[in-house]
Amino acid sequence: MTVRMKLENIIGLEIHVQLKTKSKMFCSCSNKGEDLPPNTTVCPVCLGHPGTLPVPNEQAIEWSVKSALALNCEIPRHSKFDRKHYFYPDLPKAYQISQYDEPIGINGYLEIILNGEKRKIRIHRLHLEEDAAKLLHNDKGESFVDFNRGGTPLMEIVTEPDIRTPEEAGEFLRELRLSMRYLGVSEADMEKGHLRCDANISMRPMSSHDHPPTPSLVKEGEVLYPKTEIKNLNSFKAAERALAYEIMRQTKVWEETGQAPEVQGTRGWDESGKTIVQRIKEEANDYRYFPEPDIPELDFSPDWVEKIKAELPELPAALRQRFIKQYGFNSIDAKIISQDKALASFVEKVVSELLGWLESSGEEGSAEEIWEKNKAKLSKLVAGWVLSKLLGALNKASRTLSDITPENMAELITLVYQSKVNSTNAAAILSEVLSSGESPTEIMESKDLGQMLGQEGLEGIIDKIIADNPKQVEQYRSGKEAVLQYLVGQVMKQTHGKADAAAVQELLKNKLG
Ligand code: ZN
Ligand code: MN
Repeated sequence: MTVRMKLENIIGLEIHVQLKTKSKMFCSCSNKGEDLPPNTTVCPVCLGHPGTLPVPNEQAIEWSVKSALALNCEIPRHSKFDRKHYFYPDLPKAYQISQYDEPIGINGYLEIILNGEKRKIRIHRLHLEEDAAKLLHNDKGESFVDFNRGGTPLMEIVTEPDIRTPEEAGEFLRELRLSMRYLGVSEADMEKGHLRCDANISMRPMSSHDHPPTPSLVKEGEVLYPKTEIKNLNSFKAAERALAYEIMRQTKVWEETGQAPEVQGTRGWDESGKTIVQRIKEEANDYRYFPEPDIPELDFSPDWVEKIKAELPELPAALRQRFIKQYGFNSIDAKIISQDKALASFVEKVVSELLGWLESSGEEGSAEEIWEKNKAKLSKLVAGWVLSKLLGALNKASRTLSDITPENMAELITLVYQSKVNSTNAAAILSEVLSSGESPTEIMESKDLGQMLGQEGLEGIIDKIIADNPKQVEQYRSGKEAVLQYLVGQVMKQTHGKADAAAVQELLKNKLG
């Protein structure tokens, strides 16, 4: 018998981020091994030979502190490395140097916004460790080990079980990846394994008073039902799909048995769309953690931590806020802009150039006053021309942002803003700028694409068209509104395309009553 139940998802993520330091975590081998032939960036230390000594990578430690601060973590004064024991062919020492009870960062959070709603996902801890080697299996049943990846620096970030939906998990991962890129500590490319994610999920019945269900935090010491850990999530989509599948599977068990699924277990995500049992999860004491005797404890002086904090770059969330407040972009455009630091800086330069143009073209007031007064219109123009038309044109021509200067882009937008060119011709000018590199005004003049007709000239032509087409005017006035487009077309023809079609339509409508 199945009983419908109101269940709440309790999701936590464990993310590994590969740091892009020059050398590995505990030796001086190159950290670029993924681009080099197998087993060429190795030495006795990262191959785990007896008698070798690990020397921690300072840059990796500093970047971990930086990342932890960016995730709003506290940095305890002391931190240390521990040995985590397990045997596997990708781990020649039979232990991994990791951190157990004194991680680099604790008690942080990362805020995400999903469907306009803010959610704060708490970060339980951030620690530093070395990666294992890479195992490769062929279809003849043979396996190979590439030790280039062995000993490369990894940050492990563990969230609290604050995530409630697969979409939130996906958004959290995207925001985390972007933050790592802004910090410049990792390429965070999921496909290349620079960012790897495991997800933990259990469910629990909601109490009857939880209507409508609101996400509630798991309280300290509260016992949750056995969780499933899903491994091998190598894309945002895989993470979302695997969680959705697991919610479906666990819901079914709850509804059929009235109880939580099973003992704590690990399942792998299979691209065919299922999670598959892998093993029953080890407990921490199976790893026999003990302090790494060959590395001294780390001591982070408050002054040093403050200095790192002061040097943090602007993070994506802050950048979005600034583009909304300072420049008047809407939140959707601000989000698109924030996805790419180069795009954000391009937009910012376009805005500043645009102000220069407006100021020097006789618009009244200082640059800031002009912007403040026309913020809504200007930010909409910039968003439309840069995010949609320019990015579209670059894509079509297989070109990049570096193929156009912010100066030229701002000049083009100024011409549109001042109605010196209509948008069809402006788009033509844009592709010409991309191919020739000439300035928009030069192109407009040499190709005669300008909109020379002001209100007066236009009115004369419109009056003539009305007089020349009595039949169509009659039809329009008796309710056949589609005829208006024909008349607009006649005016555009008369002006050789140099009028603004929207303005023509307005004027025609007014004259025809
Ligand atoms: Zn090495
Ligand atoms: Mn780990």
